[in-house]
Amino acid sequence: MQVLVLGAGQLARMMSLAGAPLGLKVKAYDVRSHTVVHPLTLENYQQDLAAGLIDCDVVTAEFEHIPQDILSQCQASGKFRPGAEAIRIGGDRRLEKQLLDSADVPNAKYQVVSTEADLHQAIASIGLPLVLKSALEGYDGKGQWRLKTTADAAQVWAEVSSFLQESSANQAIVAEAWIPFDREVSVIGARGKDGSVKVYPLTQNHHENGILSLSVALTDTEQLQQQATHAFEKLTKTLDYVGVLAIEFFDVDGKLLVNEIAPRVHNSGHWTQQGADVCQFENHLRAVCGLAIGNTQLVSAAAMVNVIGTDNIPNSIHQLDGVHLHWYDKDKRAGRKMGHINVCAEDKAELKKRLAALLKQLDEADFPGLHQAAQALL
Ligand code: ATP
Ligand code: MG
Ligand code: MG
Repeated sequence: MQVLVLGAGQLARMMSLAGAPLGLKVKAYDVRSHTVVHPLTLENYQQDLAAGLIDCDVVTAEFEHIPQDILSQCQASGKFRPGAEAIRIGGDRRLEKQLLDSADVPNAKYQVVSTEADLHQAIASIGLPLVLKSALEGYDGKGQWRLKTTADAAQVWAEVSSFLQESSANQAIVAEAWIPFDREVSVIGARGKDGSVKVYPLTQNHHENGILSLSVALTDTEQLQQQATHAFEKLTKTLDYVGVLAIEFFDVDGKLLVNEIAPRVHNSGHWTQQGADVCQFENHLRAVCGLAIGNTQLVSAAAMVNVIGTDNIPNSIHQLDGVHLHWYDKDKRAGRKMGHINVCAEDKAELKKRLAALLKQLDEADFPGLHQAAQALL
């Protein structure tokens, strides 16, 4: 079977790598250059979207910020999974919040604001601190402003309104309660064409400057896992979803509140490449191609370190047991996800040792906050 992925980044790349052993051929549609490319070499196939859609059996997406005309064209092919609606909802926080409320899944209190008066109303009804998030195009914590006191409201609104003026007409702001969470966790799962669902064990995530830095697969969280699985089942059923979907949560006193969802494979699920029986990339392909979803259970204790804005990874890390580098072959840029390193071990104590051994090999300046995060999470 041939699968066309909207987006030609690392997620399409890793889908391609995971699909090869099953004979699933992945091509990527680069939304910016409007051409179909090879997901590993970025070699250009000289095909536009229409030609790519004729050639493929299934079309899917590696990101949610995709123009509506492209989504509609894919939907019209009858081959799009999870489909235009799920991608559109994942790419617009207003729709995402409506979905969470309509599916009765707990999430942070919010209000859509478009004027300074709306903002003051949001402060009155939700309280402070607030986080203001752009409805469209947000990722890695970009397009967000934090508002701590009423005295700062005018200044923050000045920044937000100049952002809105430069944005597309459809852009808006969602004001959300700032949640004093104990920790952040996410669940990744897959839903098949027949409605069957399998989820991976919860992952605990540490963000540094709004970007995911460290993920650790959790094992002893039955109560939280149940809540996460329940939310996953409700949301995917509401959407009649097919494929892998990720849900980010805040853990507040043992109660999970949804932060956001991603209608795709997700950075916090990269550890499944070594830590789970079948990884998220293979399971996404299996689901969208109509194959049975593979076992999502852990095969080892697992963690993932993101490599951000640096290519300074010494070859000595390859001497370490249980350490696996995944490199994306991208040009280096500050703040850019360049690769990730999965660390696996037979139990948590050994994982902690192996992660410490890895961190010793890495330049601390390239991984700010990682040492403390590793202490806290393991
Ligand atoms: P992603 O790359 O995960 O898609 P994003 O740009 O969509 O990121 P969010 O996930 O909304 O951003 O926020 C990034 C991080 O900021 C969160 O993981 C969390 O650490 C913090 N954050 C966001 N919203 C809140 C909130 N309401 N309360 C507390 N912290 C928050
Ligand atoms: Mg997001
Ligand atoms: Mg997020």
